Amino acid sequence: MSEGPDQIDLSRVAVHTITCKPLSLRDLCEGLSARGFGGVSVWREAIDEAGGTAEAKAIVDGAGLRVPALVRGGFFVSADPEERATAIDENRRLLDQAAELGAEMVVIVPGSSSDVPLAEGREHVTRGLEGVLNHAENVGVTLALEPLHPMYAGDRSCVNSLAQGREICERLTGGRIGVAVDVYHVWWDPDLEREIAALGKAGLICAFHACDWLSDTQNRLTDRGLMGDGVIDVCGIRGMVERAGFDGDVEVEVIGERYWAGDQMAYLDQIAERCRSAT
Ligand code: ZN
Repeated sequence: MSEGPDQIDLSRVAVHTITCKPLSLRDLCEGLSARGFGGVSVWREAIDEAGGTAEAKAIVDGAGLRVPALVRGGFFVSADPEERATAIDENRRLLDQAAELGAEMVVIVPGSSSDVPLAEGREHVTRGLEGVLNHAENVGVTLALEPLHPMYAGDRSCVNSLAQGREICERLTGGRIGVAVDVYHVWWDPDLEREIAALGKAGLICAFHACDWLSDTQNRLTDRGLMGDGVIDVCGIRGMVERAGFDGDVEVEVIGERYWAGDQMAYLDQIAERCRSAT
């Protein structure tokens, strides 16, 4: 491990609803609040389960939690111009929903399509973000562009490194946009420290997502690890983003089927412990 940052206070840790997928939003929020976590990042599925945005907001507010992010929009890449326009409309609605929920940002999964070359896809992403940037400003919600690991280049994201994320943000003038640094997607990058520093210098780090990469991973979507169970130096990367000026929430986003099988309240205890010992 590199020289470590200070131990995290749980009040600046938010847990993504997908991390404890079997729990209702209400049970998750009560569990988080009882353990001193500061926030919950809400996936759209959890809003549906809660019965709607107003209902979800009442639950989150009742538990005294902040909402760093609504997850997730984006998917701007398509060979069909009508589909690209539809994606922009959908993302505007998602920004409205985030504002109603009181979320600080919307996580943007860039998108990718088998019939659009990657470089052209990045143009679609840039144009898509450009199409919603004003709306983000108007509703006071930040667009958190999340580069995804290169293994998703063929179907989910043509933006696969922090450098590509930064370049897109830098082409868009002004406004509420930044890059979400998710350790799962960027830990392999030989330029990681330099790129995080460059992002920080540009004022573009808007989120830090924590989980781990299991060396025996079985599924590229649903087999992420809890911090400390895998091979990523999560603490070292947190040190990098904090040295680059980021002082926002640490968001625990473990899309991990093997953890969903167990008792979720005991899992929340374990998450709290790993935030202290391995993040
Ligand atoms: Zn993420």
